[in-house]
Amino acid sequence: MKKILLIATGGTIASRKAENGLVPEIPMDQLLNYVPQIQNLCHMEAIQPVNLDSTNMQPTHWLMIAEKIRENYEKFDGFVILHGTDTMAYTAAALSYLIQNSPKPIVLTGAQKPIDQDITDARSNVIQSVIYACDDSASNVNFVFNGEVIAGTRGRKIRTKSFNAFSSVDFPHLAVIRENRVIHYICRKERDPFTCYDRLNDKVVVLKLIPGMKADILDYLGEHYDAVIIEGFGIGGIPNTQEQMFRQKITEFLDRGKVLVITTQVPLEGSDLSVYEVGRVFKEDERILEAYNMTLEAITTKLMWVLGCTDDRKRQKELFYKEINFDIYR
Ligand code: ASP
Repeated sequence: MKKILLIATGGTIASRKAENGLVPEIPMDQLLNYVPQIQNLCHMEAIQPVNLDSTNMQPTHWLMIAEKIRENYEKFDGFVILHGTDTMAYTAAALSYLIQNSPKPIVLTGAQKPIDQDITDARSNVIQSVIYACDDSASNVNFVFNGEVIAGTRGRKIRTKSFNAFSSVDFPHLAVIRENRVIHYICRKERDPFTCYDRLNDKVVVLKLIPGMKADILDYLGEHYDAVIIEGFGIGGIPNTQEQMFRQKITEFLDRGKVLVITTQVPLEGSDLSVYEVGRVFKEDERILEAYNMTLEAITTKLMWVLGCTDDRKRQKELFYKEINFDIYR
């Protein structure tokens, strides 16, 4: 039987009703009592480094989870991380950059309902995650949720209540789990070597445009952050009117040596800044990066990783456009 390390971090799956609402407080040993079937699937050891609502997860927690995986990597065949669903997509993307080309599967899962409730997705999500983590063809960082396997850089929470909470954005599912069997749709033997990183620069911020917005906010952002992601309109539109000052302020922001990425606020199909004049004029500045069909979760965490790796603008660009765990297609 394979050896699996379970890393419990909190979330609804481990929550109970308290005076002020649901709080993660079911201890790990009790949690595992709800899924006794796991003993027939693998040899499991479990750790619980934190017990958080994932609303409170921060980049330091991502580094800590990556470190736990690294220090146990040789001892185990796969890893299952129990995590709150609200920011799971950020953690999965961050881990995809911190632990690249892992030949062993690293699976994130959670639940919309606590594991101790009669009607819950928690038990099946945990069991299916373990099944996937034990599969010989599984590798790299993924989500397993509601019977679907999603690449770690492609997941997004799209429903707040239903069990089918996650979508694989602009990319097919890697696999599905039916009747306790894994059916693979995409299997990739990694071409690049297994590599771990331990630095992130979290001075990254997102600016979502609304009509009429003025770009002088970029002065403030340039003082406090190293990178800004602008969520523009449609396939690629940033206002180019004189009074909104985007061209001027973006140039000043870049002249400070900062990093600027343009993406779209449309949920599907990504950007192409070359289509409209309101995009192309920005595309002409080679310092501006375009996110194409990356998820916002992947863009933010990839920038944190890139900025943690290098200050060199040319190298930053190369790393940003390098495809990692299916994150970007241009
Ligand atoms: N607020 C919870 C969390 O993200 C929601 C969940 O786990 O589903 O920790």
